[in-house]
Amino acid sequence: MKELEGGVAVVTGGTRGIGRAICEELAAGGASVAVVATGEDRAAKAAGELPGDGHAGFGCDVSSVEACVNLIKRVEDDLGPISILVNNAGITRDNILVRMKDEEWQAVLDTNLSGAFYLMRAVSRGMMKRRTGKIVNVSSVVGLTGNRGQSNYAAAKAGLIALTKSVAQELAGRGVQANVVAPGLIETDMTAVLPDDVRDAMLGQVPLGRLGAPEDIARTVRFLVGPGASYITGQVVVVDGGMVM
Ligand code: NAP
Repeated sequence: MKELEGGVAVVTGGTRGIGRAICEELAAGGASVAVVATGEDRAAKAAGELPGDGHAGFGCDVSSVEACVNLIKRVEDDLGPISILVNNAGITRDNILVRMKDEEWQAVLDTNLSGAFYLMRAVSRGMMKRRTGKIVNVSSVVGLTGNRGQSNYAAAKAGLIALTKSVAQELAGRGVQANVVAPGLIETDMTAVLPDDVRDAMLGQVPLGRLGAPEDIARTVRFLVGPGASYITGQVVVVDGGMVM
């Protein structure tokens, strides 16, 4: 029997990049996966390409509290009680502080931080009642270090770490674990837009000498939601080739 068999996992931002690799790992581990993205068609297509059965795609803009509450209800109606939540959906709207528009600040906070809050709040009651549940929030190393041109993104990612640690403390007594994965520079659509000189400069700071692959993050998430991590909660696992030590 596979280690996640019988589990139902919700993965936001599951159509592309890191989220897609997480969906594949959790499906390979035996979980039924609810693939979530803003477009229901794209989510359904991605769900249909996963190994095994019992997966489904759901459209949900995580920056909307109504959409998040509705998503959790729909997933539980369609797939059953949720045992795993991975808050992975994220966006960037980079700008230096003095030029940053209110909308750029707000959009990043709404999607990257509030979305995780809405979904954790919506799943946690059921998880507490069942006395089991695993939550993994995908932050970033810039949530630990800050980054020029990313004050909105870094603030949201740092907030996600503090949010996770608080939730981990509140829910531990009910058998629910919450952890963070903080990726470094990973090859996805998000980083494909970086100019070559910026990528090269960042690569120069990676002791392991390569950009990360989405699978590097996905394998860590699979470990954190599996039986091997049963005594781990409230932690930040940095997966960055040694960039931040
Ligand atoms: P990506 O390739 O840009 O994919 C982002 C995913 O999020 C897509 O599936 C997108 O789906 C979904 N999404 C965006 N806004 C959403 C919203 N409002 N509601 C629901 N889904 C939404 O990103 P990635 O590089 O894989 O990054 C995944 C996570 O890792 C993000 O949280 C990111 O901040 C974090 N991270 C990435 C890196 C890196 O180097 N790539 C480093 C550190 C941390 P649709 O567009 O179809 O809605």
